Amino acid sequence: MTERADAIVIGAGVVGLAVARALAQAGREVVIVEKNKAVGEETSSRNSEVIHAGIQYRPGGMRARLAVKGRDALYAFCAERKVGHLRCGKLLVAIGEDEVAALKPLKQKAEQNGVDDLRIISGAEARALEPGVNCDAAILSPSSGIVDTHGLMLALLGDVEDAGGSLALNAPVAGGRVTDRGVALDIAGADPIALDAKTVVNCAGLWSDRVARSIKGLPPQTIPTLRFAKGQYFAYAGKAPFQRLIYPLPGADSQGVHYTRDLGGQAKLGPDISFIDNNTDYSVDEKRREAFAAAARRFWPDIDAQKLAPGYAGIRPKIKGPGEEGDFVISGPESHGLAGYVGLYGIESPGLTTCLAIADYATGLLQQHS
Ligand SMILES: Cc1cc2nc3c(=O)[nH]c(=O)nc-3n(C[C@H](O)[C@H](O)[C@H](O)COP(=O)(O)OP(=O)(O)OC[C@H]3O[C@@H](n4cnc5c(N)ncnc54)[C@H](O)[C@@H]3O)c2cc1C
Repeated sequence: MTERADAIVIGAGVVGLAVARALAQAGREVVIVEKNKAVGEETSSRNSEVIHAGIQYRPGGMRARLAVKGRDALYAFCAERKVGHLRCGKLLVAIGEDEVAALKPLKQKAEQNGVDDLRIISGAEARALEPGVNCDAAILSPSSGIVDTHGLMLALLGDVEDAGGSLALNAPVAGGRVTDRGVALDIAGADPIALDAKTVVNCAGLWSDRVARSIKGLPPQTIPTLRFAKGQYFAYAGKAPFQRLIYPLPGADSQGVHYTRDLGGQAKLGPDISFIDNNTDYSVDEKRREAFAAAARRFWPDIDAQKLAPGYAGIRPKIKGPGEEGDFVISGPESHGLAGYVGLYGIESPGLTTCLAIADYATGLLQQHS
């Protein structure tokens, strides 16, 4: 049986929910189809829960363009909807001459991205803010923060439903085809159905490239191949030692093992990074404890490795391989020539921070061609 639909969003992670909200609030009849039994069971609930300021992304790239806008929109949304969040700030710490010299160019890069509130401070100033931190200098980022990701997703879903949209759980997209009207999707699960939609937005996270390739008629050259990069976390028992988030200087493909805490005061270290076969092994390797402690000891000399316990893991959907800087790919009608499809690929960090800005951008691409 084939039924007609107006707009379908594939995937109920934070990005799919934000996109569905934007479509529903623009008057579209939206159905979100999610393969799992609940919203946000994949990358959206397996991350650092950090609201990033937008510092290290390549100026002009998609992540850089969306970061500040997304960050500001997220703070405003959380304040208005009473989603738990805290603008706790962050220290990007430099240890040794080379790292200290790297702070100024990093700050300038951030300024090109519109991040205008950074301050380079001395090691003594950093220690006055966070006794117990070790560094020779640091960038202080006042607009970095943390958010209750689940609260955020529930608030987004609430808006979707208030605007007349709906969510279908246990509804995996198994394939589809481009039609005269838009895109038809075959939904498997207990009640298989084909939905012929005018608009489809693919927010399937780790699986968005495979989902796109299963839709006949989408130009294959517009679908990147994702690589999975796993990140593990260790939880730290006891009182959170720092109020602010503490980060080392970022590398090309990750931000390095850093210190964060959640709204409940639970401190954690992570994520590390390892490229894996494209699977979802979310186990945490207990043997990595000392490596995590060693990475953190540079900026946190008093860390007690015995207080570290395996936490959780998440997997980044990456466009690029080890050591290379990737970016979001948001592929709309201008790239593949079909009026009713937008594909979101490689939505790694800062996808949580930028979910509202991604939603505006993706739905904007559709409006240009409606
Ligand atoms: C270790 C780690 C740390 C991170 N830290 C941060 C951070 O601190 N700050 C930040 O801003 N970002 C961070 N991120 C990035 C952020 O978590 C992601 O960008 C964001 O969660 C992506 O959301 P999403 O909705 O695109 O993907 P997901 O949350 O993965 O959602 C995709 C959904 O699509 C569904 N789906 C897949 N295939 C199908 C199908 N065939 N049919 C139906 N449904 C399907 C999935 O079940 C899933 O629910 C981090 C990521 C990782 C891995």
